[in-house]
Amino acid sequence: MKNDKAIVVFSGGQDSTTCLFWALKNFKEVEAVTFDYNQRHSLEIQCAKNIADELGVRHHILDMSLLNQLAPNALTRSDIEVKEGEEGELPSTFVPGRNLLFLTFAGVLARQVGAKHLVTGVCETDFSGYPDCRDIFIKSLNVTLNLSMDDQFVIHTPLMWLNKAETWALADELGKLDYVRENTLTCYNGVISDGCGECPACVLRKRGLDDFYNGRF
Ligand code: ZN
Repeated sequence: MKNDKAIVVFSGGQDSTTCLFWALKNFKEVEAVTFDYNQRHSLEIQCAKNIADELGVRHHILDMSLLNQLAPNALTRSDIEVKEGEEGELPSTFVPGRNLLFLTFAGVLARQVGAKHLVTGVCETDFSGYPDCRDIFIKSLNVTLNLSMDDQFVIHTPLMWLNKAETWALADELGKLDYVRENTLTCYNGVISDGCGECPACVLRKRGLDDFYNGRF
């Protein structure tokens, strides 16, 4: 992999920033792609841009406003409340088709820039009920991408089997824990770094960090 080029699907959050550092360690050349789908906080895109600039990574921002038009949800509409799914229901933050579209467009971009590797921070362990974060979906899409373009892409998911504490441990192993903690945006209320402390994303992030520091993982 060392001599190859990779595209990282990059949102500026904890997970994808950790993946970006993972890719920088494992590939010769790395580019990042961020999708603009009118996220609740345009700060998210700014945050991704700042990190890519700082790391000297070529950054593509692709317009995906179509997704908002088709699938309004709590991440794109301020009038939809962020809430966990009731039993057997998906959370209100689920964006139908998001990873399918993102990875497909990342694949088209990869072909354009001559990259064979795609890296995404999806994770099945802290499974919040998103079907398109499952390993089986990623493997299926990998086959589909290769068939659709008669190509040999490899989709990498370094976080697939990690819990939040283990994701912090990976950032630490890469020597980037503090950087990830200070520069990324995960909070649904748009507060960078440790966030608002109250939304589901902040609670999850903090619990993982506490577990990491206490060696509970
Ligand atoms: Zn928050």
